[in-house]
Amino acid sequence: MVPTSKKTARCAALAAVLALLLGGLQPAAQGYVLNYTVAASGGCPQPNRFNTAMAGIVDRRWSTSLSSSPQTVLTAATDPTARLNEIEQSILRSFAVWTAVSGTSLMPTSLGPLGRTTTQSACQLQDGLNTICFNQSSSLFTGGVLAFTRVVTSDLVGEQPFPNSPPSSFVGEILDADILFRPNDSSVRFATPAALPANSSAFDLESVLIHELGHLFGFSHSGIWRAIMFPFAPPPGTFAGERPTEQRPDAPLADDDRVGLRVLYPNPADIRLDTVNGGEIRGRVVPANPIALAGLAETSPGRAVTGIFGAHVLAVDADTGEIVAGVLAGWSCDPASPPVRFDGSFVLERLPLGRNYKIYVEPLDGPVSAANVQGGVQSLCRSDVPQPCTPPPVSTRFTLLVVP
Ligand SMILES: [Zn+2]
Repeated sequence: MVPTSKKTARCAALAAVLALLLGGLQPAAQGYVLNYTVAASGGCPQPNRFNTAMAGIVDRRWSTSLSSSPQTVLTAATDPTARLNEIEQSILRSFAVWTAVSGTSLMPTSLGPLGRTTTQSACQLQDGLNTICFNQSSSLFTGGVLAFTRVVTSDLVGEQPFPNSPPSSFVGEILDADILFRPNDSSVRFATPAALPANSSAFDLESVLIHELGHLFGFSHSGIWRAIMFPFAPPPGTFAGERPTEQRPDAPLADDDRVGLRVLYPNPADIRLDTVNGGEIRGRVVPANPIALAGLAETSPGRAVTGIFGAHVLAVDADTGEIVAGVLAGWSCDPASPPVRFDGSFVLERLPLGRNYKIYVEPLDGPVSAANVQGGVQSLCRSDVPQPCTPPPVSTRFTLLVVP
């Protein structure tokens, strides 16, 4: 996305969600903000995610092809072998940030070993391999885009688009995700944590990579500034959040990212009896005057828009003022009666228990805009299915409201 301010867009829209699935979880109007897939046979949108029931399902490799003039990735080490090892350590640490979140089924054992390839353009959507590339050109590197992630999901259970991967188990299953960093641009360089202090004009490699890995695992963007899934990168020479430590390996993440990951990858062992993060707040965002919605076209045959779509709804700790999680509100879907209804619904799930919350509703009118959550919006509907629908425009014309 083109940056709307001086900030630099971390990545382009989730490109090419090549739908390839049924069943699965019952989606409500949730977010944090996630990307979805609607089955080829129709139905409710299913969140995109890996099948963590299978150990090692997230295969990983990276291309050691690195441009040298200009140098895209800066390291403290100068020896070629040591340089590769330093970059590889950053990649491993960035994956570990996500698998360190408690209360999810995304575990270190969900990841395969990190392999290497020397192929320059190894980020191909047709191979079923999850690859990170630092030296592959793409037309999606428009102005300001530092990196982007392409995700292929299944829209048909049992589909096996890649010969080496197992048949898909559910709709929305991620089958291939590739991360591309902007190459060959002397004004855009990435530095490992060891090299960042001496290269204050470079972007922090790990801040960008952890964000892109969020997309790889199924996230869209968050409107929360502190979230790693906020669409804009921290300024050159700085990093997002805190560095991971042995005690807090997920320190770069914000609570919003953690809550979103627990929603996306619920742990079947504790989901029913979650006494730590089992909180849930549901509601609807509706205009004070329903006439405000008049003029919005029906989004599917016979269904009017009955609530505000695209509001950012935040759960704020009433005592500390801390933002715990935020979702993109505005829809619900009944599996017995798809498609999505644009009724203003939201649900904030997996909230920490034992805290008082305030709900804060705000329009996505900048710096994060509708364009930044395009994937999360467009993937709610499909037009080529028995129950077609079209998302209404994201509403930004309403004023703030605080509900105790
Ligand atoms: Zn992004």
